[in-house]
Amino acid sequence: MSSELSKLLSRIVDATREWEASFGEFGPHPDTGVDVERLGAVVDDLLTRLGASTPFFHPRYAGQMTRAPHPAAVVGYLAGMLVNPNNHDFAGGPATTQMEHEVVAELAAMFALPAHIGHLTSSGTIANLEALFVARQTHPGRGVLFSADAHFTHERMCALLEMPAHRVPTDARGAMDLDAAERLVRSGAVGTIVLTAGTTGVGAIDPIVDALTLKQQYGVRLHVDAAYGGYFALLTSDDELELEWDPAPWRAIRSCDSVVVDPHKHGLQPYGCGAVLFADPAVAQYYHHDSPYTRMFSGAPGHLGEISLECSRSGAAAAALWTTLQMVPLRRDGLGTLLASTRRAALAFARLVAQSSELTLYQRPELDIVTYFPSAPRTMSGVDAASGQMLSDGMFAPRSEAIFLSTLSVEAAGFRRRGHRLAADAPRGRILRSALMKPEQELCAAELVAQIAALAPVEQAAHRR
Ligand SMILES: *Cc1c(COP(=O)(O)O)cnc(C)c1O
Repeated sequence: MSSELSKLLSRIVDATREWEASFGEFGPHPDTGVDVERLGAVVDDLLTRLGASTPFFHPRYAGQMTRAPHPAAVVGYLAGMLVNPNNHDFAGGPATTQMEHEVVAELAAMFALPAHIGHLTSSGTIANLEALFVARQTHPGRGVLFSADAHFTHERMCALLEMPAHRVPTDARGAMDLDAAERLVRSGAVGTIVLTAGTTGVGAIDPIVDALTLKQQYGVRLHVDAAYGGYFALLTSDDELELEWDPAPWRAIRSCDSVVVDPHKHGLQPYGCGAVLFADPAVAQYYHHDSPYTRMFSGAPGHLGEISLECSRSGAAAAALWTTLQMVPLRRDGLGTLLASTRRAALAFARLVAQSSELTLYQRPELDIVTYFPSAPRTMSGVDAASGQMLSDGMFAPRSEAIFLSTLSVEAAGFRRRGHRLAADAPRGRILRSALMKPEQELCAAELVAQIAALAPVEQAAHRR
């Protein structure tokens, strides 16, 4: 693969030079000359420095929700980057603006939105900011409600938008307590509910289907934060039995007001690619502005700067996503096969953890994040210290066997709700968390769990039976 990839990369560089030459030669300025020998030496230094990077591509990276970009995304990004289009307006990126409209329409089709307006963003955080910005316009003077396990940036963005933020508790699966939500909505304080489809911590899915009733009854706005979980909408069938799957929450997204999904998480893209979609194209009115610099026509479709808070945006990111979707379409038999593998990896991993004596499953995985903790410690502080130790022992092992995990800080009440009996000698503690986002992890789940179990502290004989 890698020599074919190098050939493609040099073909792209050559084609771009030819395209440039088609505009006619011009005299180079002496100050813009590049010392290629010196650049080569700098690249040596750069590669040495990058050698210290975390190996997101490797199956033994079983920590945060990240992976290597797809080769199609790499070539698509490079080809786009060489011409450096700006998707702010049609004149800045005529080719990549069209690609962005196409990929956004495909994302909207994945959620079966009957109509849509939307665009790519630099991240999930900015995409959620846009959704909350529009919510402030449609429900002025009212607050935003989300669960205690929603992404931390919702609170920050509410502060930025000067919207009151309301947190409600979660249940034993980590999903929003909708009764608590309804009490607040009934009080009139809340204009918008943020439902998370796949929380960042444990991958829990908020009750989207039941929340639709609150929308009907109280006119509350529903925003779905599916930054991590959105692509699971591709698993649409009712009979995904081996995946232990309920497609209902994903089907309910089409009846909500907005949804955010991060192509740079499960969509095989390099960082710098989030997306926000609105069900009502009329929300474009809230973005109305005058730009003295760029060629905008009020209300004209095509100008993405007319419907986004950011000004300059990478056309290369749209090219990367477009190229990827030609290779891996948003269908059950396209990207859906990869999500089915990562789901199976999580189920297998969770079963093995549940069977091991060294590790305890924190909760059953809903998507492809598994949470667990060492079994030997009997106290919160003991679990916290052992989890932290396992994280660093795994990471600092010799490179050819290092294993990369992440930790999640949970409250004592979270352990209790899930039926774990630990002495709550501290208000919270860290457990271990593995986002299994690479299909290869389905093939090596047993090795991964065995290796993690070997890092766990040994149970003391006195505590046995
Ligand atoms: C990752 C994530 C975000 C933030 O997205 P970024 O792309 O990291 O800015 C927001 N919400 C959820 C549920 C996430 O998983």
